[in-house]
Amino acid sequence: MINLASDNVVGASRPVLETLLKANDGAAMPYGTDSWTADATAMLAKVFEHEVHNFMVATGTGANALALAALTPPWGAVFCHAESHVMDDECGAPEMFTDGAKIVGVPGVNGKMTPAAVEAQLERFAKGVVKSVQPAALSISQVTEAGTVYTLDEIRALVAVAKKHGLKTHLDGARFTNAMLALGCTAAEMTWKIGIDVVTFGASKNGCLACEAIIFFDAALAENFQYRRKRGGHTLSKGRLLGAQMVGYLENDHWIANAKHANAMAQTLASGLRTIPGARLPWPVDANEVFVVVPQSAKKALDEAHIRAAPWSSNCVPDGFTIGADEAFLRFVTSFATQPSEIEAVIATLSGRRAAAE
Ligand SMILES: *Cc1c(COP(=O)(O)O)cnc(C)c1O
Repeated sequence: MINLASDNVVGASRPVLETLLKANDGAAMPYGTDSWTADATAMLAKVFEHEVHNFMVATGTGANALALAALTPPWGAVFCHAESHVMDDECGAPEMFTDGAKIVGVPGVNGKMTPAAVEAQLERFAKGVVKSVQPAALSISQVTEAGTVYTLDEIRALVAVAKKHGLKTHLDGARFTNAMLALGCTAAEMTWKIGIDVVTFGASKNGCLACEAIIFFDAALAENFQYRRKRGGHTLSKGRLLGAQMVGYLENDHWIANAKHANAMAQTLASGLRTIPGARLPWPVDANEVFVVVPQSAKKALDEAHIRAAPWSSNCVPDGFTIGADEAFLRFVTSFATQPSEIEAVIATLSGRRAAAE
């Protein structure tokens, strides 16, 4: 069985687990007042080259929803891509944790919002008009739901629109490191240096067991956030478990090595897919996600070989990119654990060179 349906089908990577084992010994103060959590925060400050107000949680949904709650009043509007995780995959958590703020989808090809599309949505919600929710925040997914990565200039342009209208900005970095390596930039360059106010720094998909950091760069925005997290049920009693995961993740540039490997595996997969007759990739492969349309017969060969990809659908494929009834739209996601032999098996199976992967 080869499973490339997502990067959360794999467990945690070794250094993270070994650090957890170390942290397991002895006593530590609870609720994130321990030394592992303090060390994680210090390491994140180094990574971001900035003072950070760091709040770790166990899920990305919790991280996004709580972060957005710090940026909007209940009568506010949060703008995000129409197919973003915040919009489609969090079961209403952002609406619940913001006490009912409106989440507004911004359409955009390749999983990306454009400044003009954000402006167009903003026009629907007039500032100071009592019947209208009040624009409060812009949430940008980096990597996007289409596996693409915004350039720094693209983020800058979106942030400029946000700031012009008085919105705070959030970066959903569930795949933060994959995006950062794709751009060849630093964590600082992808965030506060271009006007991002709060980051969901994802670590689970890239090697942790369950750990995401909500990172504020401004103390005023983080004010009272400790109560918000606790009230939301996301403050771990044995808080060292989050701190230790983050320490193991960041130590020795482990997070970089993991994402580098995942991104490289995605490129290998994409190159192989481009050689398969009838296979078409709707979007550029920027990070560790590969989307492809293949003939149903090829999909059947994958099933028979016990190779798993995620069935996909999207309204943000490029103009003119249509998917026939005899075709299947699939998502492959590579991770730190993906083996070159697994990529070879996928390509061999799709090309009909092998009936079944051993
Ligand atoms: C995976 C993911 C998350 C976090 O999801 P959880 O399953 O709640 O951890 C958030 N945003 C994006 C874009 C993701 O892909």
